[in-house]
Amino acid sequence: MLPPFSTEPYVNFNEPGPRAKMAEALKLVESRLGRTYPLIIAGEHVETDKTFDSINPGDTDQVIGTFNKCTAELAKKAVESANEAFETWRFVPAETRARYLLKAARICRDRIYELSAWMVYEEGKNWIEAYADMCEGIDFLEFYAREAVRYDRPQGLTPWPGEENDYFYIPLGAGVAIPPWNFPFAIMAGITAAPIVAGNTVCLKPATPAPAIAYQLVEIFEQLNLPPGVLNFIPGSGSEIGDILVDHPRTRFINFTGSVEVGTRIFRRASAVHPPQIWLKRTVLEMGGKDFMAADETADVDCFVEDVTVAAFGYQGQKCSAGSRVIVHSGIYDEVVEKLSERVPEIVTHDVTEWIDGPAVNNHGPVITKESYDKILSYIEIGKKEGRLLCGGKPAKVIGREGYYIEPTIFVDVPPDARVAQEEIFGPVTVVVKAKDFDDIVRIANSTMFGLTGAFYSKSRENLERARRELHVGNLYLNRKCTGALVDVQPFGGFNMSGTDSKAGGRDYLLLFLQGKSVSEKI
Ligand code: NAP
Ligand code: MG
Repeated sequence: MLPPFSTEPYVNFNEPGPRAKMAEALKLVESRLGRTYPLIIAGEHVETDKTFDSINPGDTDQVIGTFNKCTAELAKKAVESANEAFETWRFVPAETRARYLLKAARICRDRIYELSAWMVYEEGKNWIEAYADMCEGIDFLEFYAREAVRYDRPQGLTPWPGEENDYFYIPLGAGVAIPPWNFPFAIMAGITAAPIVAGNTVCLKPATPAPAIAYQLVEIFEQLNLPPGVLNFIPGSGSEIGDILVDHPRTRFINFTGSVEVGTRIFRRASAVHPPQIWLKRTVLEMGGKDFMAADETADVDCFVEDVTVAAFGYQGQKCSAGSRVIVHSGIYDEVVEKLSERVPEIVTHDVTEWIDGPAVNNHGPVITKESYDKILSYIEIGKKEGRLLCGGKPAKVIGREGYYIEPTIFVDVPPDARVAQEEIFGPVTVVVKAKDFDDIVRIANSTMFGLTGAFYSKSRENLERARRELHVGNLYLNRKCTGALVDVQPFGGFNMSGTDSKAGGRDYLLLFLQGKSVSEKI
């Protein structure tokens, strides 16, 4: 019934058509800034005593929206409502559930410029980063809709005489979706829609810096008359209501993407059984990275340098997959460092509500919050002691704007065990580490607690084959950058402390929100 899945195409903002559409969308969204938004629980719009503002990180006086803040009581109520809704939603046919996602995808596609514009204001994404975030979110909706229909089909079994045997998948129950702010549409939509289309119900607690874009999707599902309680929207502070949602005895699963700190906390808490709880909670925990861009002496240096620039500084380095460690064979080390010192200062830190023609990465915006800004600047101070500052290294000034701007920063001659080479900084900072030979590249690449993404550049068949086997990351790229995974093209998720390897946008993903039921009838 459905055409095969294909990914949503990007546009080129250096061309006048897309450029004009985006400029218009930004104006439209600007006229809608500053509204107040409710919680949505069991289909009811709820207001509370406390609110918080979502602001533009590139212009901190600009309020994107004011959000009612979920209280402990309302968090519990949301879990109860999701449980009630589950009793009917679980029996809605998969094709019907899929149709909600497909219709939502269509609306998102029709509104793609406007929805992208929300992320330009709310998260300081440049135009193409915001647009790509939308494309990925639409892909998740389209792909998981198809996956739900596929998992609903009869599954193969070995026949047995005198019996009619059946094996099928049923949903788990009511769960919690806790996304990060950095892919505020794509990840939020993916981790929410996948359990829903599989027949579960969800309480969505958006990340505090990113509630406005999340509300847009919730409102779309509301317009589509998704039954009340299937998707509950409960913005609020993770540190205030996170434990309540995770600990609740009627929470069946937690679908989380974010930091190691919070992910491991959820893992620990979710393992406790709180009466009257009658199940073990399922946790899907996707966490941080310290991803590498590595090259041996045969690599194409110009291509490597451009890709490092994009992987390290795209969206200000605030991607779990960002190329935050550059590992270079000694034979080309000096050339790579020299070329990075020329290329990276071409990046322009500016107000990303405007677009500068040229390579997308040259459009460099703010980091997300004051807390991130301070943390990144403190890592820059550590880096100055651990390595040699090649470029950047300080806040960037943008005329007429008060925002969290930091220059693209590179440290070179960094020892592989330095803190800036081991810990996730999550900002526009990368480090360059020198390797003696290919064995050294592998050793350094595999030397952190993470294992999310990595890229290796070489013309040596032997090294490329060894890299396939020996580099221990969930998403390995050969002769291309370590960011930009596409749905069902590069299923995404990491090893070790990068998470539970859920492979978002992959064909195993929906199984995480399903359980198999075997039924045998004597004939
Ligand atoms: P974060 O600080 O861990 O927050 C993630 C989410 O958890 C937010 O919604 C947050 O709410 C919530 N939270 C905070 N404390 C909680 C608690 N005690 N219980 C339950 N939830 C709680 O991460 P972030 O700063 O938003 O995102 C950046 C991190 O995400 C980076 O480490 C990045 O690598 C990782 N990430 C990983 C992937 C992947 O696929 N592996 C993808 C993207 C990002 P508040 O916002 O209210 O604090
Ligand atoms: Mg945070």
